Amino acid sequence: LIDSHCHLEQPDYGKDRESVIESCRRSLRAVVTCCANPRDFPLTMELVRKHPGFVFASCGIHPEYAEEFAGSRSCEFFGLLRENRDGLVAVGETGLDYFWAKDPAAREAQKDLFRRHIALSRELGKPLVIHCRDAFEDCLDILEQESCRRVLLHMFGGHHLLGRVAGNGWHVSLNNIVQRSKKHRKIARDMPLGLLLTETDSPWLSPEGGRNTPLSVEDVIRKVAEIRKAAIEGIDAATTENAVRFFSLPPMG
Ligand SMILES: [Zn+2]
Repeated sequence: LIDSHCHLEQPDYGKDRESVIESCRRSLRAVVTCCANPRDFPLTMELVRKHPGFVFASCGIHPEYAEEFAGSRSCEFFGLLRENRDGLVAVGETGLDYFWAKDPAAREAQKDLFRRHIALSRELGKPLVIHCRDAFEDCLDILEQESCRRVLLHMFGGHHLLGRVAGNGWHVSLNNIVQRSKKHRKIARDMPLGLLLTETDSPWLSPEGGRNTPLSVEDVIRKVAEIRKAAIEGIDAATTENAVRFFSLPPMG
């Protein structure tokens, strides 16, 4: 079991972060925590240093903060990412989110920041973790224009574009939204198993409500197995192996 996308730096874990990580260690092989705002970077790196071989980090600026970090304001952060490249397994989450960004200028700012993340990922030789909401076509267009190869579409919901995603050899990570979303269930059913990863997006998207933790990745795997009419062990082995390969994690001990 690997949680390929969570947010351990969130204040939701302020009181018991270390004990949450300890309980994850007992059940999971690894977790990839995603720093989505530069202000969370120091804590993210601290967690990676404290838990070598277990907590890995993907770092970027979420499209929601694109205007806040337009132009040179992201350069400083990108400099930090260059300095800390050995502590990163991926760049992101980056991408496009048009849900709140309705005006063209805001969307252009997102596209610009997205393209700069793509350039950084190429420079650092790291894969991309993509957040894409209400902007599927634009997001895939940019990834194709930039000839991106190592791509993980986190929580992807564009079932109608799955052929294009798989054709490019891009990966998709599913979380507990498969418990209630029909289109995500269809993705769980139709995505080639070799391109599928599992995640929780903790502390959000708890299957029971309240705070989520990476431990619920087990529920995701159980649900995906049920949808695909496959053995839980097989889905676990495949998604774990896919995550190890995608993020170039150290081999299993
Ligand atoms: Zn996220």
